[in-house]
Amino acid sequence: MKIAPMNAGGADPTAPIVVIGAGQAGFSVCVKLREFGHSGPITLVGDEPQPPYQRPPLSKAYLLGEMAPETLHFRPPAFFERKSIDLRLATRAERIDRPSQEVVLSDGATLPYARLVLATGARPRRLPATLCRDLAGIYHVRTLADIDAMAAEFRPARHVLVVGGGYIGLEAAAVAAKLGLRVTVVEAAPRILQRVAAAETSEFFRTLHRAHGVDLREGTGLVALTGTDRVKRALLTDGSEISVDFVVAGIGVRPNVGLAEAAGLTMCNGIVVDAHCRTSDPRILAAGDCASFPWRGERIRLESVGNAIGQAEAAARTIVGKPEAYDARPWFWSDQFDVKLQIAGLSSGYDHVVKRKGSGASASFWYYRGLALLAVDAMNEPRAYMVARRLIDTGRSPSPALVGDPAADLKSLLDGEDAQSGRAAGD
Ligand code: FAD
Ligand code: NAP
Repeated sequence: MKIAPMNAGGADPTAPIVVIGAGQAGFSVCVKLREFGHSGPITLVGDEPQPPYQRPPLSKAYLLGEMAPETLHFRPPAFFERKSIDLRLATRAERIDRPSQEVVLSDGATLPYARLVLATGARPRRLPATLCRDLAGIYHVRTLADIDAMAAEFRPARHVLVVGGGYIGLEAAAVAAKLGLRVTVVEAAPRILQRVAAAETSEFFRTLHRAHGVDLREGTGLVALTGTDRVKRALLTDGSEISVDFVVAGIGVRPNVGLAEAAGLTMCNGIVVDAHCRTSDPRILAAGDCASFPWRGERIRLESVGNAIGQAEAAARTIVGKPEAYDARPWFWSDQFDVKLQIAGLSSGYDHVVKRKGSGASASFWYYRGLALLAVDAMNEPRAYMVARRLIDTGRSPSPALVGDPAADLKSLLDGEDAQSGRAAGD
């Protein structure tokens, strides 16, 4: 079936829209399309069997056993019926036929589209097959099924080796330690959280994990895993050999771009989109972990809930003909032990850090390039995070001296003078 091309202003509100990937971005696109008045057919295709669900609790409360699976779902199945969103679960999109504007599904069906949204997310980097061979007891973390498969291993007094000291690894390590397991974490890079946070924050979490008995080894990788059927021992690059009951790997992700690549769309560390989430084919959009987009003169890909929601809204706006350029306002969070880390902005390119002490062990780190505030990492400091977000979102930079002054009230940072321009903040 051939769909007539749509006017440049956006989609015919009755035209069929297909969204591939029923994760955070795919779900959010569908909801926003209805909210913005799209009345035509919307089909959401997802290869996982569950209705769209939130991933963040997977390595936190859900792994701890504090959440039932249904509570992860964004909405119950009835919601999709009510909104006339045709949800095709456990179904893979196998191929995009761009000339005929159709998607071919794993069940043999074909879906015509006027606009297609790729929200295919990312998949975990896997430990090399030469390391794992066919050994049982080695897990990767992305889906509800992944967590369900490993949950029974988290029993007191067992020894888990966590490979990777990023968010996944550290959150899994915190859960394991809380449940009474012995935990060893190996991080190949010189410091934990190197990809996502600055050195001061790494130091805070290093101290926190060690205080809870986690054996944290930075600059250390994995040489070999041995055992007969199950993994039993691990040889590390620091020369040590440890006995382990199971292994959890959190060593980063790769964007799911195979479908887009095969369709001939332009790639650059993800599916290349413009500020309106359009790929190199204007009838195809992309959003979330799989999309690389322009930001402050560079091209980035963000792996976060906030970005998936923001890009999904931008994509929906483009489709309904009310385009608004996506201006990413990065924010992240992580829960480890009794600490909530909240991050506003991106710290890459900072040249100095100002520490602001909170009460007790809480603190926030403020990252500057010259006088420009780039990002803030707040540990159990929700007010500092809120103030920082407002400052960063509005491009304001309080003076580093004021930030570091424990006598200066946080609110005064919003009222003070912009250190960069010398203007009163908010002028
Ligand atoms: P995804 O959520 O990965 O969804 C993509 C979906 O598309 C998947 O279901 C995938 O199977 C499906 N798919 C792919 N290809 C096809 C195909 N061909 N056909 C059909 N379906 C397909 N971010 C935060 O900001 N804060 C957190 O605390 C946080 N915690 C996290 C904890 C865990 C354990 C994980 C795994 C991630 C966490 N993240 C967190 C990251 C966040 O979940 C992701 O950035 C977000 O889910 C990205 O949404 P997405 O829709 O782009 O991708
Ligand atoms: P990550 O942040 O990229 O961290 C993985 C870490 O593992 C990196 O520091 C990596 O070092 C290291 N590593 C790679 N190979 C290794 C090896 N063989 N031995 C030891 N260390 C190794 O990725 P992640 O923690 O796996 O997270 C995956 C995804 O989930 C990301 O998208 C992340 O944003 C998301 N997530 C987010 C949150 C949150 O926001 N709170 C929570 C959980 C998950 P190199 O960089 O040097 O390879």
